Amino acid sequence: MPGSLRIAIVGGGIGGLTAALALRARGLDVSVFEQAEVLREIGAGVSIHPNAIRLLKRVGLEDQLQKIGSPIGGIALRTSHGEPIDTSAGPATLAFTRNDPGYNVHRADFLNLLFDALPNGTVTLGHRCIQLKEEANRVRLSFANGSAAEADVVIGADGIRSVVQREIGLRSRPMSEGIMAYRGLIPAERLPWASDLKNPALWLGSGRSFLLYPMAQGRLFNMVAFVPTDTDSEESWSAPGDLKALAAEYAGWDQPVQDTIKSLEETFRWGIYDRASLPYWSTSRITLMGDAAHPMVPHVGQGAGQSIEDGFTLAVLLEGCTATDVADRLDLYEELRLERTSKVQALARAAGKLYRSEHANPSEKAVRLREWMAQGKWVFEHDAEKAAADALRDLGR
Ligand SMILES: Cc1cc2nc3c(=O)[nH]c(=O)nc-3n(C[C@H](O)[C@H](O)[C@H](O)COP(=O)(O)OP(=O)(O)OC[C@H]3O[C@@H](n4cnc5c(N)ncnc54)[C@H](O)[C@@H]3O)c2cc1C
Repeated sequence: MPGSLRIAIVGGGIGGLTAALALRARGLDVSVFEQAEVLREIGAGVSIHPNAIRLLKRVGLEDQLQKIGSPIGGIALRTSHGEPIDTSAGPATLAFTRNDPGYNVHRADFLNLLFDALPNGTVTLGHRCIQLKEEANRVRLSFANGSAAEADVVIGADGIRSVVQREIGLRSRPMSEGIMAYRGLIPAERLPWASDLKNPALWLGSGRSFLLYPMAQGRLFNMVAFVPTDTDSEESWSAPGDLKALAAEYAGWDQPVQDTIKSLEETFRWGIYDRASLPYWSTSRITLMGDAAHPMVPHVGQGAGQSIEDGFTLAVLLEGCTATDVADRLDLYEELRLERTSKVQALARAAGKLYRSEHANPSEKAVRLREWMAQGKWVFEHDAEKAAADALRDLGR
């Protein structure tokens, strides 16, 4: 695409690949550099909520999402003893309708779907970026394998240990949330009692919560069990966990919780860490997105969703942009996204505290959850492309 901006994305995870799709859909020249030699993802589920699904549909992924996903039509909340917590009056339920669903997907299926939707040659594997050098009219990227590239704009989509973040003078520090999660995948045939479970189920107890949801069109269930910890667990998604220790954490809980734990063949430990919002994301030609920009605790399932919103926002802002406009557009990107993602980070933090808080009875917890859901509605209803297009129009661009 001669004459158009050359955009390099560092990192081919969920954020980087969706950004590439959104940029290409608007005719932009984009290359992704991913450190892994082969594309791989951990065996886990990820919830993609309506705010992100609507964007993915616009680049033609609706049919594929239906093929790999299990639609989310709401969430069933229970106390640790199994009593229903009725939040049906909560406005957040409006965000999940039959025509506007979210999907629970296997991370590997989703990553493959994104990769396959990009033309051959868009993603270069085996390229770990180690340095960026920003010059007046370009950025030079250096890779651990000795190769180099140049671009007019660099987008850092390289996750929680972002090199791009470091290269623009930032460093976000992980802070333990005082909890960790056990996680695991269970083939549906091992959970016969859950054959009717179409939506996520979340059991809430004092200090602990337990999430179970169907994914991959109901072939698998994803379990995430949050428990307190006073030790700094590794910030890993896949350190091996102890099934007996997991069972002990949920002794006396609702029978389906205990049956789910018994059905696991293995479990993994996931250290849950929070990070403060960054003071800025961009220089004149380099910016951040996804977990490199705004990592968040997982309690509202928006880490992937917000990274998808980032990519679509960048695509609107960089379409038709000349090399001289790049700095202004990246400023606008930061203006549109930093405040919103900081609010989502705060909401996720508050949700975790509420889930684990002590409440005397289910109706009291329901009241608190309804209040929280009313606050959270803006997360699911947002249209990132429209917000970016409106901002450009307001500026007369
Ligand atoms: C177990 C688990 C469950 C989750 N569940 C949910 C959920 O239900 N809903 C939700 O919205 N979010 C969820 N999240 C969070 C979500 O997965 C992340 O927020 C999202 O993946 C962010 O995507 P990303 O592309 O920014 O980062 P990543 O997915 O971390 O991708 C970064 C990519 O950059 C590559 N990379 C890193 N450094 C370099 C380098 N120097 N050079 C080149 N490449 C590099 C990495 O190899 C990787 O491929 C979950 C996370 C985990 C771990």
